[in-house]
Amino acid sequence: YCKMNGRNSKLFYTKKMDEAYQETILLESDIRKALKYDEFNLHYQPKINVITGEVTGLEALIRWNHPKKGPISPATFIPIAEEMGVITQIGEWVIREACQQHYTWVNQGFDPIRIAVNVSAIELQRPDFAKKVAQIIEETKMDPNYLEIEITENSVMENTEDCIETMNTLRQMGISFSIDDFGTGYSSFGYLKKFPINYLKIDQSFIRSVLTEQSSAEIVKAMIQLAHTFGLKVVAEGVEDREVLHLLQANRCDYYQGYYFSKPVPASDLESVIMGKMA
Ligand code: C2E
Ligand code: MG
Ligand code: MG
Ligand code: MG
Repeated sequence: YCKMNGRNSKLFYTKKMDEAYQETILLESDIRKALKYDEFNLHYQPKINVITGEVTGLEALIRWNHPKKGPISPATFIPIAEEMGVITQIGEWVIREACQQHYTWVNQGFDPIRIAVNVSAIELQRPDFAKKVAQIIEETKMDPNYLEIEITENSVMENTEDCIETMNTLRQMGISFSIDDFGTGYSSFGYLKKFPINYLKIDQSFIRSVLTEQSSAEIVKAMIQLAHTFGLKVVAEGVEDREVLHLLQANRCDYYQGYYFSKPVPASDLESVIMGKMA
C-alpha cells in the first residue's frame, strides 16, 4: 500500500509540475506577443515626503492586460520574462515609456519630479545597459536628473565590480539609484556601502507588521538610522494607514509609498489623485 501511495503522489506531483511548466511556456509566447501588440502599460505610484506631505517622486510599475486572461501581475510574468531572456526588451520599453511620459508632463507645464523605474538584475548586468539608457534619454529628450533606477540587493551580488561601473556611468549622467525591498536580500549594509546609491526602500513586510511586532518596529528604526549615517534617504514601502505614517514621522523616515496615499494609477489619473490629496 505504501508503495502505491508513494507512486500515486509522485504521479500527482509530476502532473502539477507539468501544468505549471506548460503555463510558463504559454505565458512566454504571450509575453513576446504583448510587446509586439502593445499590451503593456505603466501605472504610477507617488512617493510622499513624510514631513511635508508633498509628492516628491513617482514609481512606474508595469501592467499587462492579457487579451484573454485579463490583468496579469508583474510578480507573475516578470520572473518568467527574466528566465526567458525577454526581460531586456520589456525593460527597454519601460524605461522609454517612463521617459516619454516625463517629457510629456514637463511639456504640459507640470513641475518636474523624479520618476523611478524597476530594473532587473539581468538588465543591469548587461554590458550595454548604460549605453542603452543613454540612448533612450537622448531619444526621448528627458532630463536624466529626474530619472531614478530601483534595483534589489540581490541584483548587485554577482559581477559586483561591473555593476558598480555601470551605476557610476549612469550616476554621472544624473540618474539616481534606490535599493528596493531592502531587508529581504542577502547583502549586508557594509556591502551595500560600496554601491553609488541614494535611497533605501524598506520592504513592505517590515512596514506591514510595524505596529503589531516589536521586532519589526526595532528593525525599521535601525534601518532608518543606519541609512542616515551613510547619507542615504529612506523610503518606506506599503504604508496603508495613518498610524504607520505617524510611526515613520516619529522615526524620521524621509519618504513613503502606499495605499494610504494612493495605489499605482494610470498616467491620466495621476493629476486628479495628486490634486485631490494636496487640495
Ligand atoms: P516593487 O518594485 O517592490 O513594487 C511595490 C509593489 O507593492 C507594487 O506591486 C505595488 O503596487 C505594491 N504596493 C504599493 N503600495 C502598497 C500597499 O500599500 N499595500 C500593498 N499590499 N501593496 C502595495 P506590483 O505593481 O504588483 O509589482 C510587484 C513587483 O513586480 C514590483 O515590486 C517589482 O519588483 C516588479 N515590477 C513591477 N514593475 C516592474 C517593471 O517595470 N520592471 C521590473 N523589472 N519589475 C517590475
Ligand atoms: Mg520598486
Ligand atoms: Mg519593493
Ligand atoms: Mg519587489
